[in-house]
Amino acid sequence: MSQKIVTPHILRRVIQYLFLFFCLFIGYRLFQHFIWATGQSSAFVPKPPSVEAFLPISALMAAKQFILTNKWDMVHPAGLTLFFAFIWMALLFRKSFCGYICPVGLISNLTEQLGRKLKFQKELPVKAARILSIPKYIILGGFVYFIVINMSTRQISSFLTLPYNYVADSKMLAFFLAPSATTLIVIAVLAIISLFIRNFWCRFLCPYGALLGICSTFSPTAITREAGTCISCGKCRKICPAAIHVDERKAVHSPECVGCAECVGVCPVNDCLTVRTFNKKVPFATIAGGCLAILLIFYGIAVLTGHWYSDATPELIRKFHMMIFNK
Ligand code: SF4
Ligand code: SF4
Repeated sequence: MSQKIVTPHILRRVIQYLFLFFCLFIGYRLFQHFIWATGQSSAFVPKPPSVEAFLPISALMAAKQFILTNKWDMVHPAGLTLFFAFIWMALLFRKSFCGYICPVGLISNLTEQLGRKLKFQKELPVKAARILSIPKYIILGGFVYFIVINMSTRQISSFLTLPYNYVADSKMLAFFLAPSATTLIVIAVLAIISLFIRNFWCRFLCPYGALLGICSTFSPTAITREAGTCISCGKCRKICPAAIHVDERKAVHSPECVGCAECVGVCPVNDCLTVRTFNKKVPFATIAGGCLAILLIFYGIAVLTGHWYSDATPELIRKFHMMIFNK
């Protein structure tokens, strides 16, 4: 297929929707597992390991434990595998996790699209955008301070083996199945703001995105602009989900860039915007392909080496669920 048929936008949306459907599927499987584990059904359904991707705090602790003691967390091993995979994606292919995989990213993009259609979208002044970016780094700093700096490996090990941590994914499911009024209000407020300010949650509040953004500043991959051929139409800046002023840069090394290549897709001048990695021009699909390849490599290695499936027995899982949910 030629580059003209598969645009960066189409490629991105296809991948994003595939991951969204995958997340809905594993969410449903987790629900069936939860029903069994809490004694509401006798049909055993194993927990899909991929749901552990939604436990980044547990993964951060497990990462520290692994780095200092070489011990792989076997309570949520897939969570740790995916955490390292996402970090490597950022180190090599910018924040491609945010751009292609995270379902919240897709929902945020779709809300932005709706905001555009309704003509609600406003571009923030650069200074305001910079100030608004600070909270996500403060939240990330809090996690780093409490977990990476303050928690000893003994404390981490105690936390990771708590019954609560064993059922953390079910806790998360229960949280979303029966959201409190406060949760619903927060989600509604974020959705309304996102109609006016593009990708508000991802750009200004998500601490995971902040961590991946910091890692992405080391990435050898970047969008580059040929200033000599640029006609300053501003289409790249307008389409950019991170609202980066692509039209003023020679290369985009911003921690906000999600590597979506949407800017490359809308640029009317041939080869004015290109994706480069290690200073070599590469097809725009390299970022998406690289990010998926990393995911598959980490998954494959983890399965083959026994670092994907938890060693918790079904009996233990059911005992902890009964203890925590059926008080
Ligand atoms: S600079 Fe280009 S690749 Fe980076 S986020 Fe913006 S549109 Fe996507
Ligand atoms: S879309 Fe291309 S030509 Fe237009 S401002 Fe951006 S880089 Fe320049």
